[in-house]
Formats: sequence, C-alpha cells, structure tokens
Amino acid sequence: ILSVQHLKKSYGQHEVLRDISFDVHKGEVMTIIGPSGGGKSTMLRCINLLEDPTGGKILFHKDNILDEDYNIPKYRSKVGMVFQQFELFSNKNVLQNCMVGQELVLKRSKEEARKIAMENLKRVGMDPYIDAKPRQLSGGQQQRVAIARAVSMNPEILLFDEPTSALDPEMVGEVLDTMKKLAKTGLTMIVVTHEMAFAKEVSDQVIFMSDGLVTEKGTPDQIFNHPQNDKTQKFLANFR
Ligand code: ATP
Ligand code: MG
Repeated sequence: ILSVQHLKKSYGQHEVLRDISFDVHKGEVMTIIGPSGGGKSTMLRCINLLEDPTGGKILFHKDNILDEDYNIPKYRSKVGMVFQQFELFSNKNVLQNCMVGQELVLKRSKEEARKIAMENLKRVGMDPYIDAKPRQLSGGQQQRVAIARAVSMNPEILLFDEPTSALDPEMVGEVLDTMKKLAKTGLTMIVVTHEMAFAKEVSDQVIFMSDGLVTEKGTPDQIFNHPQNDKTQKFLANFR
C-alpha cells in the first residue's frame, strides 16, 4: 500500500533523513523505534506531506505522491495521523471533534457523520463523554478521542507519533489497548513508539532508525530477540 524509497530530508546542511526505504502492506502494523533525534517524526511528517522531502519517492498504491500532478488533497484524506499532544479542537466537544473533518473533508451529512463518530467513540470507550470539552478529559481520554476522530475519516493508513509519551503512566495502558483493538480490525498502521512490549506484541514489522537511516528491520522476533546491529542491541539494552 505504501513504499518509501530512498527518502531524504535535509534542513539546510543538516541531513535528517539520509536514505530511508521500506514497504508497508495493507493490514500491517509497522512500528518504528530508535533513539531521540534519529528522524522518526520527520519521516512520518514526510509521509503525511507535512514536510517536503528533499529526495526519494513515496509510492501510495504505486503512484509517487511527490509527483507534481499528484492529487494531494485526496491522498491526505486517506492518511490519518495521531499526535503525541492529541491536537483536539479545544473549543469543540468530543462529538464535534469527531464530526467536523467528516463533514468538511469527506462531505458527509451531519447525520452520517454523527453516526460514524458515535460508532468510533463507542469502540474507544468514549461515548459517555460526547458533550465534554477536551480540557475536561484526562490525557488518556483525549488521546482515545483523537484516535476515534482519526478512524472516523476511514483512513487507509493511520500514522501514530509517540501516542502515549505525553501521558501519565497510568493512562498508557488504555491507549495501547485501544490501538491493539484497532490493529486487529486490519487497519494499516505505522507507529513510532517507545513502548517496546507493545511493539513486540502487535507489529508485523519493526524498523530501527538512527541517524537518519534504517539501521535494522525485521519481525519483532528478529529485532527484539535476535538484533544483529550494534546500535539496536545497545538501544534495546536500555529497555531491559
Ligand atoms: P524523538 O524520539 O525525540 O521524537 P525523532 O527521531 O522523532 O526524535 P526528529 O524529530 O525527526 O527525531 O528530528 C530529527 C532531527 O531533525 C533532529 O536533529 C532535529 O533537531 C532536526 N529537525 C527536526 N525538525 C526540524 C526543523 N523544522 N528544522 C530544523 N531541524 C529540524
Ligand atoms: Mg519524534
């Protein structure tokens, strides 16, 4: 569904992504791990076209999204993102947060948008809170709303950038459980995370990124139980 080929991104002289390649197939969960500053967020932001890559290709269903005549609005509507800081609309309640994108971008009717929002809020256990404003919710609850909002757009791929790292420890579990449930529905997910147990349990593929390169990639068993690369081994040692 997505093929990243020799992706590069520089800020001035600083080469943040040096040569990133990987494929994600429909229904797969790919997790990206690696040290801070390695370029993980930059890579997600390139996939999402929040950043303009300086080289390489990103093929979505075999078309390069970086081609000049590529239909970017349509692509954006098919790729969702969940951020570390939730990024909910603070002046809208939970239900409105999950409806507005559907109405504006997908041109769904209010009734349809409400129905789909409610289904997804139920899935994440947030349907009792539809009238609440984001600030009245805990971080874990806000993140579950953000996930329901993203899923309500029927994305073909959902990107997550450290979705639990801004949460108090007691709320990490509820968000990871929500993500595990989503993964089981067959949604294609790319997840940057420091939650190694989660990565080990739900990933089809794991990528270890450092210094703008894919240093190692493989199955969870290969990466966590038999890492070949020095940097992967050192990084994982800090989590044991
Ligand atoms: P973390 O685990 O801390 O989130 P990361 O792997 O997501 O790290 P990035 O946020 O992608 O890393 O950053 C990689 C490098 O790119 C860092 O050295 C950062 O300073 C640099 N960088 C990121 N965004 C910009 C920008 N807009 N302008 C200049 N440099 C940037
Ligand atoms: Mg980051």
